[in-house]
Amino acid sequence: MMRVGVLALQGASAPHLEAFAALGVAAVAVRRAEDLAALTHLVIPGGESTTIRHLIDLFGLEKPLVASFRAGTLAIFGTCAGAILISNDVAGQAPRRFGLLDATLARNAYGTQVDSFDAPLEVVADRLDDGNPLRGTFIRAPRILAVGPRVEVLATRDGEPVAIREGRAMAATFHPELSADLRLHRAFLAQGT
Ligand code: GLN
Repeated sequence: MMRVGVLALQGASAPHLEAFAALGVAAVAVRRAEDLAALTHLVIPGGESTTIRHLIDLFGLEKPLVASFRAGTLAIFGTCAGAILISNDVAGQAPRRFGLLDATLARNAYGTQVDSFDAPLEVVADRLDDGNPLRGTFIRAPRILAVGPRVEVLATRDGEPVAIREGRAMAATFHPELSADLRLHRAFLAQGT
């Protein structure tokens, strides 16, 4: 059975919970290690990656989270700050990562909060293509500088990857939960564990 959680320590967890509700899935807010038990899917939302990281450490969430992922029972979708936290490498100053996704990111690569923007995205993965571009809301977003050979690019902006996936790990540098277009959430659930 599918059991979906959204890490709710800091950042944009509520709109992710609403996105899943709109898809008919009752997702749960995850704050403690015991909330992780029996989850099949976990979103690590946007927010402030250093703060989220600090709270993950404080509540002892790293071990169970990484163990479930590596055991093949948990799929993880990191958006924005969440993408930073699950990647292998981040250029410059960054919190410690889980290293679940073979990609190099740069934090705050589009500028500060005032440089936040909304943009149409090119859909690369056929299963996401419904003939329309995706819309991405970028809020102090990171940039994906490089991806490993096993990484699938799902969507790009100006040819640059902004949504990617490697096995059970998926990442978007923008906030898909702030759009009514829930193709990425649906794809995350469909990919299983
Ligand atoms: N700039 C934030 C960070 O580096 C991410 C912003 C976001 O998640 N919207 O953690």
